[in-house]
Amino acid sequence: MSAAIIDGKSVAARLRAAIAADVAGLPYRPGLTVVIVGEDPASQVYVRSKEKAALAAGIAGRTIRLPASSSEAELLAVVRGLNADPEVDGILVQLPLPAPLRAQPIIDAIEPSKDVDGLHPINAGRLVNGLPGLVACTPSGAMKLLAEAGATLRGARAIVIGRSVLVGRPIAALLTNADATVTIAHSRTRELAAECRRADIVIAAVGRPEMVRGDWIAPGAIVIDVGINRIADGTLVGDVAFAEAVEVAGAVTPVPGGVGPMTIACLLENTVSAAKARRG
Ligand code: NDP
Repeated sequence: MSAAIIDGKSVAARLRAAIAADVAGLPYRPGLTVVIVGEDPASQVYVRSKEKAALAAGIAGRTIRLPASSSEAELLAVVRGLNADPEVDGILVQLPLPAPLRAQPIIDAIEPSKDVDGLHPINAGRLVNGLPGLVACTPSGAMKLLAEAGATLRGARAIVIGRSVLVGRPIAALLTNADATVTIAHSRTRELAAECRRADIVIAAVGRPEMVRGDWIAPGAIVIDVGINRIADGTLVGDVAFAEAVEVAGAVTPVPGGVGPMTIACLLENTVSAAKARRG
């Protein structure tokens, strides 16, 4: 048996084209401002691709670059200025912040209706309560790939490996809201392989190269690999041993080319829905 490969790149391209068409029909230009502090090279790459993707979709994307030496008060002042700016519909502060800056006070300061990363406790709480709000981008992208794979969520056994605020927790909430029976696994979970083998849907969001082996996966299960790990030879691999998973799963996302491209597309989607909600 060979699994279907879920092509995140083409799903993301379709979503971005649909967003661009939607934006073209709006009487205003939605605005997305990304704030980056410091020079972390990976973050610089992410921020550039976010701005580029925004502009390509007709969104007024711009980046505010602050020195690594910025104080919390300075960063808070920038966020408050964006909260008050009527041209800004979406605010994203690129994480991680350089030490000693703390992320939580900054996230807490973002106006929830502009929180296109979906990380503000109000948006995270609304998600858990099953209320509408802005949903974190990677989790929302993972759900779209499940839909693309034709997964039936109602009544399905799903396991989410990883419980981070950014990925694992919101995915578990989305799956619960979609009527799946959800197990949240983490570093203290006992008999993880056996837990995983019971699942119809496996979401791996751990950050450990190829931890989920083929014999952890039930035949026919749908596997979404959120992990992005750079290994010694410089290549990118996921949290799932892809070559093994392909032999047993019903469908699986590749890394790269799976969840990764969906994240930015969902950021653009959030920006447009934030703009519509605010501007009517
Ligand atoms: P975190 O490090 O914040 O969380 C990792 C989670 O995995 C924690 O809950 C941790 O458990 C759990 N974990 C660690 N080791 C084990 C283990 N041996 N067995 C079971 N669970 C374990 O990572 P993120 O959630 O931010 O990211 C996860 C992965 O997703 C990374 O590879 C990251 O690069 C990738 N990522 C990809 C994105 C994309 O766009 N595709 C976006 C964001 C992240 P505990 O809570 O007990 O410590």
